[in-house]
Amino acid sequence: MVFVYLFFFAIGIIFGSFFNVVGLRIPKKRSIVQPRSHCPHCGHFLSWYELIPIFSYVLQKGKCRSCRVPISAIYPVMELFTGLLFVFSFYKIGFSKELLVALPFVSLLIIITVSDLSYKLIPNRILIFFFVLFVLLRTWIPLHPWYDSIIGMTVGFILLYIIAIVSNGGMGGGDIKLFAVLGYALGLKGVLLAFFLSTLIGALFGLFGIITKQLSRKSAIPFGPFISIGAVLSYFYETEIFHWYIQLII
Ligand SMILES: [Zn+2]
Repeated sequence: MVFVYLFFFAIGIIFGSFFNVVGLRIPKKRSIVQPRSHCPHCGHFLSWYELIPIFSYVLQKGKCRSCRVPISAIYPVMELFTGLLFVFSFYKIGFSKELLVALPFVSLLIIITVSDLSYKLIPNRILIFFFVLFVLLRTWIPLHPWYDSIIGMTVGFILLYIIAIVSNGGMGGGDIKLFAVLGYALGLKGVLLAFFLSTLIGALFGLFGIITKQLSRKSAIPFGPFISIGAVLSYFYETEIFHWYIQLII
């Protein structure tokens, strides 16, 4: 069993490394294959041993081997998160068809976190790709009832659209479309829970930032990372959280 977990971790960090490239290049409308990975400072092309996820970063002490300029910690952190989320997906779901939804689901969240943190942008091309993928997957591996996907998508979209109008620009168009895509995979209860958790976590983070004076009231915080945390919790713990909540109120 340990080997299966190691396998998912290894696959996860390799994919994570690719998701960094996707999240950083797609918003800039650049190719994800050409040019090869290089140092953004000196242009030094990375050789195979500089491309090993996480390990290269640690061995090079977070610096480019050629020009010694620090490499962003986003790379190894996202690789690690992808590895852990792939392992966790398998731990929670096991060898079931739903694992084929779980892995793309966490992948989408990693990619949009990278691109939202880097550019405050969630690109349409990424959303469309995953939307089509989830439509195909949820046709094969449906929610119960099957139209829960359509309800989840519609409610996710409308809810965020209303929040965007009320908050007057606090929520971007990318966030609205992202919730529609997530809603398709999650269904109604899941998308509502994801929304509740992501706003709660985002608000706590903002409050903490203001108290510790790291943020001002006017700081624009990208919402993507909070959506990702909320959506992951909702996807894996929906039943547990609703169960706990019901016990709390009765
Ligand atoms: Zn360099």
